[in-house]
Amino acid sequence: MLGEVLESGRWAISAPYAGARSFERRFSDAFCLFNACRFCVPTSSGTTSLMVALEACGVGAGDEVIIPGLTWVANASAVAAVNAKPVLADIHPETLCMDPESVRARIGPRTKAITVVHLYSAVADLDALASIARQHGLVLIEDCAQVHGARYRDRTVGTFGAMGTFSMQATKVLTSGEGGAVITNDADLARRAEHLRADGRCYGRDTPAVGTMELVETADVMGHNYSLSEFQSAVLLAQLQMLPQQNEIRARNAALLDRLLTNCGLTPQLTSPGTTSRTYYQYAALLPPDMVAQADLGTIAAALRAELGLSIAGGYSPLNTNRLYDPHTRRRFTELAGQDLSIQGHSLPVTEDIIGRLLTFHHAGLLGDETDMNDIAEAVIKVADNLAALAKTELRV
Ligand SMILES: *Cc1c(COP(=O)(O)O)cnc(C)c1O
Repeated sequence: MLGEVLESGRWAISAPYAGARSFERRFSDAFCLFNACRFCVPTSSGTTSLMVALEACGVGAGDEVIIPGLTWVANASAVAAVNAKPVLADIHPETLCMDPESVRARIGPRTKAITVVHLYSAVADLDALASIARQHGLVLIEDCAQVHGARYRDRTVGTFGAMGTFSMQATKVLTSGEGGAVITNDADLARRAEHLRADGRCYGRDTPAVGTMELVETADVMGHNYSLSEFQSAVLLAQLQMLPQQNEIRARNAALLDRLLTNCGLTPQLTSPGTTSRTYYQYAALLPPDMVAQADLGTIAAALRAELGLSIAGGYSPLNTNRLYDPHTRRRFTELAGQDLSIQGHSLPVTEDIIGRLLTFHHAGLLGDETDMNDIAEAVIKVADNLAALAKTELRV
């Protein structure tokens, strides 16, 4: 398919129509089918998909958006990027996703939206979060960057709020190196999203003449260029065909790993009760307190990486102490907006309590077979048996 893009002469949706349906539209159609939703607008990254979704839903200057305290920094920086202020909610200690009760406690007069993140391999408590959003008239956006294809109450995630956002960055289970998408069942939101990602242009109703522009300059909503290239769309179209089977293999291995690691004293991440199908971006588990009392998490993760040759690490740096969120390093967030965007003071007792014990395994390690899962459990046992010796070394790879 990459050869087809190369030879078509059309490498972007913002280039002239070349006589065939764009790969971007083909991927969008396929991703709608995959998620059983009506509209999909591909974007250049997960970050831009969050910015597009927030702005399509009307979030802007002076608004507050509640986000989880444990997630990738993009959830906070994307809120700042649309001139709003992130407010941190704490997590549930078992699902590691946003705790609905903490969200409720953070709602104030300026709250406009909630971005829920389905983290690592869990789906958040969507029943409770959707009900809170409804009750308070808030926009609910689902960040599905880590859960392509997960299901809740037999419906694909991403359609429980106004919009769902996705990342197709290199580490994700569906990837084109960089890429993203927003999905929705609302035609007006989809149209706004289209404009926001293509400089105020959208696809027209009629098929254009070959050699003329397919995007129409309606200027309904001013946008930026966050479009996915035709090469990336072609890669995603091919990758999407493999995803259901890969998700199945990972889920099968993860179920086995749950049993093995529970026997080793670890506590695997749980998903919310309404989840009907789980996907695995990272496999997450909490180490028992006595293990981290003997050697710190970084040392244990490094020892496991050395044993297994897999990508194994701690969790995200909680957002209230994350160095990557620092709006004061950019003038647009300080002098122009005139808002205090800092989040250092936000309290996250549950996140802080578990973060020193949280271990995450990248999904590639779950594509093997039963033997590989046994190897992981054996490595955990070996490391647990040698903690005293490990604590004395400075093993950090
Ligand atoms: C990866 C990720 C993002 C950002 O996606 P990019 O494509 O890297 O911009 C946002 N949110 C979550 C939860 C992610 O995992």
